[in-house]
Amino acid sequence: MKIAILPGDGIGPEIVTEAVKVLQALDESFELELALVGGAAYEASGNPLPDDTLALAKHADAILFGAVGDWRYDKLERMFRPEQAILGLRTHLQLFANLRPAICYPELTSASSLKPEIISGLDILIVRELSGDIYFGQPRGLRNAPDGPFQGNHEGFDTMRYAEPEVRRIGHVAFQAARKRTKHVTSIDKANVLETSQLWRNVMIDLALEYPDVKLSHMYVDNAAMQLVKAPKAFDVVVTGNIFGDILSDEAAILTGSIGMLPSASINANNKGLYEPSHGSAPDIAGKSIANPLATILSAAMMLRYSLGRPEQADRIENAVKLVLSQRYRTLDIITPGCKQVSTSEMGNAVIAALAH
Ligand code: NAD
Repeated sequence: MKIAILPGDGIGPEIVTEAVKVLQALDESFELELALVGGAAYEASGNPLPDDTLALAKHADAILFGAVGDWRYDKLERMFRPEQAILGLRTHLQLFANLRPAICYPELTSASSLKPEIISGLDILIVRELSGDIYFGQPRGLRNAPDGPFQGNHEGFDTMRYAEPEVRRIGHVAFQAARKRTKHVTSIDKANVLETSQLWRNVMIDLALEYPDVKLSHMYVDNAAMQLVKAPKAFDVVVTGNIFGDILSDEAAILTGSIGMLPSASINANNKGLYEPSHGSAPDIAGKSIANPLATILSAAMMLRYSLGRPEQADRIENAVKLVLSQRYRTLDIITPGCKQVSTSEMGNAVIAALAH
C-alpha cells in the first residue's frame, strides 16, 4: 500500500505528522512517500502543485493531505495560490465524491451551540458531488447584459448543469454508503424551481430501484438547512450537488462544535481518494503545538476504509479516538473544565497508546 503524504502549509505538517505516527503504529508495511504541496511547494519550485507531487499522487493508492494556504499568498496571481493545488488534484484524479461525516462524540456535546438533546449521538454523512454544478458549468463570465430588464448593464453569470451519469455516479456512492449505515438516503435538491434539480431527483428515484433495502427521501435545500439545526439526527446519509453540498456540509460540520474533529474524503470512481481534515491550514496557530490532530487522524481512518479496503484498521483508529476523548485528553480547541490539555503530539501519542486497547 503506497500512500502519498502531502502535509502542505500552516498546521498541515504538525497534524499530518501525528496521523503518520498512527498509521505506522498500526501497520509497519505501509509505504509512505512525502511531497511538497501548496505554499511550501510554491516556495520551493514556484508551483503549488509540482509535477513530481502530482505524479506521486497519481501513482499512490491514496493521498493523505494536511492543509494549504496562508494569508501571505493571498495577493499572488490565482494560478500560483496554494489552494490551486487542491483543485488541481481533484481535477487530475477525477475526485467527484466528497464524503464528510459529522459525528458528535458524547464527550464533546457541550462544545456544540445546539442543545445536548438535539445533538448528542449525531452521526450523519454528507455526500457532496464535487466536480460539476454551477462551479464548473459553462458558459460563465462577466459581460454587458445582452437582454432582460437590465440590458446593457454589466452582469455576471454562471451555469448550473448536471448530466445524468454525473448524478447517477454520486447517487451510487450515497446508496452504497447508506448500506453500511442505517440505510436511509436523503437527497437534497431544489426540484420545485430548478430543471437541474428535477433531473437530479428523477435520477435518484430511478437509482433507488437498484437499492430496495435503502429508504430514499427528498428534501428541498432551504428546508434541509432548517432541519439540520432543528432535528439533525433525522438524517443518515445526505446526498446533494456541489453548491448545496458546499453550504450544507459546513453547516453540518459546525453542529458538532469543533472543526478540529472533522475528517473528509474525496474519492473517484476507482475508490482512490484524497483524505484531509475539513479545516484549513490555521496559520494563526501554526508552530504552537496546539492544533488538534484528530480530524487528520480520522481522515487516515477514512482512507483505510474507503481506499485501502481495511475497515477493521479504520475501526481501530476510530475506537482509539473515542477512548482518548473518554480519557479526557483535549487539545485547546475542545478543552472543557476537568479535562487534561495536551499538545498536538501528545494527542497523537495518546491515540497510539489507545490503539493497544
Ligand atoms: P481554518 O480552518 O484554517 O481556521 C479557522 C479557525 O479554526 C482558526 O481559528 C483556526 O485556528 C481554527 N482551527 C482550524 N483547524 C484547527 C485545528 N486542527 N485545531 C485547532 N484549531 C483549528 O480557516 P481560515 O482561517 O479561514 O483559513 C486559513 C487558510 O487555510 C487560508 O489560507 C485558506 O485559504 C486555507 N484553507 C485551506 C483548506 C484546505 O487546505 N483544504 C480549507 C480551508 C481553508
